[in-house]
This record gives sequence, structure tokens and C-alpha cells, in this order.
Amino acid sequence: MTYGTRPVTRFAPSPNGQLHMGHAFSALCAHDFARAFGGQFHLRIEDIDGTRSRPEYIEAIMADMEWLGLEHDGAVQFQSQHIARYAAARDSLICAGLLYRCGCSRSDIAEALRHKSVPHGPDGPQYPGTCRVRPYQGDTAFCWRLDMEKALAMAGPLTWTDLTAGKQYAHPMAFGDVVIWRKDAPASYHLAATCDDAADQITHIVRGKDLFAYTAIHRLLQQLLDMPEPVYWHHPLLLDASGEKLSKSKSSPALSARRLAGESGPGLIDNLRQGTLMLGISLSDA
Ligand code: GLU
Repeated sequence: MTYGTRPVTRFAPSPNGQLHMGHAFSALCAHDFARAFGGQFHLRIEDIDGTRSRPEYIEAIMADMEWLGLEHDGAVQFQSQHIARYAAARDSLICAGLLYRCGCSRSDIAEALRHKSVPHGPDGPQYPGTCRVRPYQGDTAFCWRLDMEKALAMAGPLTWTDLTAGKQYAHPMAFGDVVIWRKDAPASYHLAATCDDAADQITHIVRGKDLFAYTAIHRLLQQLLDMPEPVYWHHPLLLDASGEKLSKSKSSPALSARRLAGESGPGLIDNLRQGTLMLGISLSDA
């Protein structure tokens, strides 16, 4: 497969835990895809969540990447340094009349859901719409939610292309009125990642299949914010012996533990590369 332009990919870990083999695999996919076509590979630290991001995890990510030998191009980007970028995007959505303030707590939402049945999306029950119907006037902390129906009416039908799954129709309605600007941290993951991918001119978003469904929201935001449409490749996930996806919360063995035990980073990457070949993934025609 050939591209008119050289691909630009990124690896975008959140520093809220130690990286594990699944991250090494994801970084490898994004890295090798870019390199296979003479493109660029960026590293972005998604450290926007002040309550969960920790400096020691950032240090570990940097050390892990160096140990693995996956070199990135340009300076490492930190989301915490781009809050103004996300605020500008939020403000343009507010100006377009697409966001509303929501003061509901988790328990308010749970209570409202006891009286109202709502569709369940990939993230669970949709927000019941309390503050859409009755605008929030309080003076306690609030978040900004997207009025999904209005947003979709403005954006029109949305599609995207995944290199392995093919052409997709985006149905962000399934998520309901998603949070765009959080109460306890600045931008939502959806807004921040979408803004950064556009600002860094990422042409190919290479990431795990666990994020596949969210692409519908990202495509909607791209359309509303007049941003270019990237190509996507949602790669398969590494599973543990019991068939579960590796995760930070289930404490899959950390890369840093292997690094500190003196294992070879490039050796581990080579093993993963062999694995991708066994999986039948060829990065040159993904
Ligand atoms: N920061 C996200 C994570 O660690 C990845 C976001 C993305 O690749 O779009 O799961």
C-alpha cells in the first residue's frame, strides 16, 4: 500500500501506572508502521488527569521507551502543557451552542436513572439528560457535556477508515451526551486527544482495539472543529494466559521490572515483532 504523504503516528500513554507488554506492543505497531513508510513516530504523554498522573510514571515511560529502543521524532509532547489548546476548542463548541453545563454528581445520575430508562452505550447507561432539559444554574463545580443530538445534526453522517476493519460508519449517538470538559480535570480524553492529533498532524492513528468504539466520538469532534480526518489502525490486543486483555489495573508485569532486572529491551521488541508476524500482521500492508 502506498501513501501520498509519509505517515505520522504517535504513541500516547497515560502516566497513571507502569507500562506493560500491551503498551510495548502498541508503541511497536505505531513505530514500525511509521518507519515502514519513512514516516514519523511521536511520543505524547497524556498527563491531563492531575489526580491520576504521577511524575514517577512519566519517568518510567521515558526510561522504558529508551530501553525498548523505539526512538521517537521531535520533542515529547505533554498534554498538561496544552490546556489552552483544549480550552479554545471547548469555547468554539460553546459558541456553536453544542455544549451545556452539567452539575450532576454520580449519585444524581444514578438517582435519575432509577426513574428513567435510557439506552446503554459502550460506556454504560447514557447520561439521562437532566441538565440538558433544565439548565444548570448552581455555583458548584460543573462539567461541559456535548448535546449529542444537536452535534450530530450539525455534523451530518460520519465515516472513517480502519486499515484492517475497513470503512466504518460512526455512531457516536450510542455514547449519549459525553463529557467534553471535566469537573475534576480539564479536558476530557476525547477532546484533548482529538485536538493534539490535529495539532501534531497525525495522519495515522495506531492504537489498540479497545479504543475502537471511541473513534466515533473523535470523528464527530474532528468534523465539528474542522479538523482533518486521519486514517486509523486499531491493532489486536495482547492477552494474558486466561484470555483477558493486559491492563495496568490487573497489574500485568511492568516493563520497568523487566528493565530493572536487566532484560534486553530490543530483545523483547524482537520477540514482539516475531509475534506480530505469527499473528499475520504485516506492517507494510496493515
Ligand atoms: N492515553 C490513552 C491510553 O493510555 C491512549 C489514547 C489513544 O491512543 O488515543 O489508553
